[in-house]
Parts: sequence; structure tokens; C-alpha cells
Amino acid sequence: MLENLRILDTTLRDGEQTPGVLITSDEKLKIALKLDELGVNVIEAGSAITSKDEQKSIKTITENNLNAEICSFARPVKVDIDAALDCDVDSIHLVIPSSDLHIEYKLRKTRDQVEKMAVEATEYAKSHGLIVELSTEDATRTKIEDLKHLYDLTISAGADRICACDTVGILTPERSYKFYKELSAFNVPLSVHCHNDFGLAVANTLEGIRGGASQAHVTVNGLGERAGNASLEELVMTIESLYGVKTGLNTRLFYEISQLVERISGVTLQSNKAIVGQNAFAHESGIHSDGVLKKTETYEPIKPEIVGHRRRFVLGKHVGKHMISEKLKETNQEVTDDELNRIFERIKALSDMGKTVTDVDLQAITDDILHINPEDSLVLEEYTTVSGNTITPTASVRVTLNNREIITAGVGVGPVDAALAAIRKSISDVANITLEEYHVDAITGGPDALIDVVVKLKNGNNVVTARSTQPDVVLASVEAYFKGVNKLLTDEKRMNNG
Ligand code: MN
Repeated sequence: MLENLRILDTTLRDGEQTPGVLITSDEKLKIALKLDELGVNVIEAGSAITSKDEQKSIKTITENNLNAEICSFARPVKVDIDAALDCDVDSIHLVIPSSDLHIEYKLRKTRDQVEKMAVEATEYAKSHGLIVELSTEDATRTKIEDLKHLYDLTISAGADRICACDTVGILTPERSYKFYKELSAFNVPLSVHCHNDFGLAVANTLEGIRGGASQAHVTVNGLGERAGNASLEELVMTIESLYGVKTGLNTRLFYEISQLVERISGVTLQSNKAIVGQNAFAHESGIHSDGVLKKTETYEPIKPEIVGHRRRFVLGKHVGKHMISEKLKETNQEVTDDELNRIFERIKALSDMGKTVTDVDLQAITDDILHINPEDSLVLEEYTTVSGNTITPTASVRVTLNNREIITAGVGVGPVDAALAAIRKSISDVANITLEEYHVDAITGGPDALIDVVVKLKNGNNVVTARSTQPDVVLASVEAYFKGVNKLLTDEKRMNNG
């Protein structure tokens, strides 16, 4: 059943229900366009009844005449369906709570009443020309006879597809296979919708498809309520790479769309996230890196290009010469064997002292050995921070960027955040640099301890690490940030020239 699988992406509906996530109309359109380019069959664009803004968002998407079917979530009530109709959607995802638990405690209705609502809503939507995907909420905790009865009634009323939701993520792969197989006997297509409460959403979705479901509900990055939904990129790459079945999706867009959704949703991906995480194709230990450099298959199940990602080598205590020269090549820097040996010795000495070797350390050592005087594009002239218990932490900075003086100010949750906000503003014209990670350590004890700050910054596809050690945490943070920014700006120059 893996062949001819249809994908319903619900990043813009179930994904947007992630705690703390709010996606604006423009942003929703951006994501929808990318999903369409990727080739998903259905885009669940939102829930039209939610608000005027939500209606506007959905309507903007339907107006773009995408290839994908555009769908709105709806409860089995007329107002919801009317709101969806106002947005000119192709279909509705009509969701009916089906377990005793949901019917009694959430809806405070009887099963008969709910069945009647489901039938009437289906008939109403069908009579207005909508495709109806009839979905049962909490289906995996519903008695199977009750569930089948509800599908019988609604399919007779005109439902085009049915969907069974594992709303609280309690299936296991074996049970998922059996459950969806049992429901695949109906004469309409069946959807699988799994949540990731136990980290099994992708495995359960896969087994649901093998059991007979022909459409999978997924989200980019596995975004969604609580622990999220089944992840689009993980499901598709499993099917393509481990089962050898083509889905027809343009998998090369996975990393790009993942980044887009990460940025817009503000939900930061864990670095070890499968397929699209920053470390998904990163190698540190000497043996691994050396193997990958000789033949990528040694420690990579698929090539990063297949999902639009890139291979990355991280310097650690297992650093090898081969890897250092690869790292330098990434930014178009060639060194002789003798120079490489000297760089290697210095890096080795640093890591033997227990220090993480940042990209800026490597660059500083390389510049030193090659006798290059690094010229910083961005120079800190002065900074001031003000913080206290009754004021908003505020910072101002004066910097010189490519010999131009810029003065900016920023606010934040604390003085470090405010200072970094001000610096970010000062460079916003030349680069969109994001802070990916921030680590702070007190090296010595006591209130006058030395503070070690390591930052990881990103500019497009380039990620660099930088460090500063100072008694003042704000100064250490500002310095580390400056070093990282300068490395990124120089890399950009080098790559453009090369
Ligand atoms: Mn859901």
C-alpha cells in the first residue's frame, strides 16, 4: 500500500495548534506555496471558523490556485461549514469526536446526537459541493463497532474519505497495522492520523499505511499539539529510502521547508532531529569523519543532497588532518601540507586542554600560521546596557560596519538578550544572522568568576561557533557574538570570491 500514497499536510492546522505558535496570513501562504512545490496532495490550511484573520489566510491560499487540494478543518456544525465555504476551499476535514470519553465529557451529548450531527453535517457539506473527509477524533479509544457504525452512516450520507485519529498517540506499530486494516474494508479511501506522544507517530503511520490506509496526515518537522504529529520528512524518507518506493514528492525541498517552518513557527528543532536536524549529517569523531571523507556511505544512510541538506564536519577532540583541510575547503581556503600540520598541532593542543575548538579558533590559528591579518567587517566601538527589577532591559551599541558607523538599540528579557538584539539590528542590512545556540559556563567559582560563552550562529547554510571568556557575562556574550558574526561575514566574502 506504500505505492500511490497520498499526503495530507496539516502543518497549518494541527501544526499551528502547537502551544505558543501563531502563523500570520503572509507566512501561511509562504508555507502553502512551498508545500505545493513539494507536491503534497492536500493542504489543511486552517480552521475557517477560528477568526476573521484565519479566514483571510485560508482565502489567500485558495486564491493562488495551487495544485494541492485546499482543506479546512470543521466541526459538524453549520457555521463551521459555512465559514469554510466562504473561503472557497475544495474540501473539509470534518472532525467528529467518537470515543465515549470525548462524547460524554467534552461534548456532553449522547452518541445518537453526535451521529445525527455527523450525518447532517456531511449532507450539508456535500450539497454545497465540498469534498468531505470524515474524521473521527480519539478513534483509537472508541469501540470498534461504534466507529464502524459512524463510518457506515456518514459514508451513506456522502463522505468521500474517512480518517481515524490516534488523537493522544497511544497506538503501537503492531496495533496500528491491525486497527487500520480493520477499517480499510470500507469502500472509500482511509486516512491515518497519528500523534507522537510516545515518539511512535511515524512508525504508527507507516504501519497504518501498510494496514491499508491510503492517505497520511503529517506535519513539517512533526509540529503539532503536545509532542506533535507524524513528521512529513521522516515518513516520506523512510518510504523512499528504506522501502524503495517513490512518493513523487520533491524531497530536495525538505531541508528548506523545514527551515522555513522552524523560522516562522519559532519552534526550534532539536539538533539531532532525523533528516532535517543540524546534526543529521554532521560528523565529529576522527574515525567517522575519515570514513565519510573516503566514502560517504560508511556513516551516512542517504546523501544529504537528497533532502537538500548538507554534510558538516565538527571539530572535536578526535579531530583529524583530513577534516581540518575539508573544513578550510568549505570556505575556499587552501593550505600546504606543512601549514596543515602546524594548524593540526595547534588545534590538537587546544582540544587536549579540554577546550571545544570553535570555528573562530580554527580561523584564528589558520590566519596566524598563514600570517594573515584578519580585518573585521564589524567592529564594536561601544555598548551600554541598563537592567534592573523595574525597567525593561535595554542596550545601545555603536559599531563600525565596513567603515560605516551605526548606532542601534534593543530590548530583551535581560541585558545579554538586549545587547544581542541591538547588535543584530546593526547588521540587519547586510546579513540575516540567527543565534542557534548559546552556552554559558562559569569557569572559576565565586561572584568574580570567569565566564565562558560559546555561541553558534547561522547565516544561510553556514553555521559557525565562537567563544569569549571574560569576567562580565554581557561582555563575553557580545564578544563571542562579534567574533562569530565576523567569521560569517568573512566566509561569505570568501565564498563569493571563490
Ligand atoms: Mn491531530
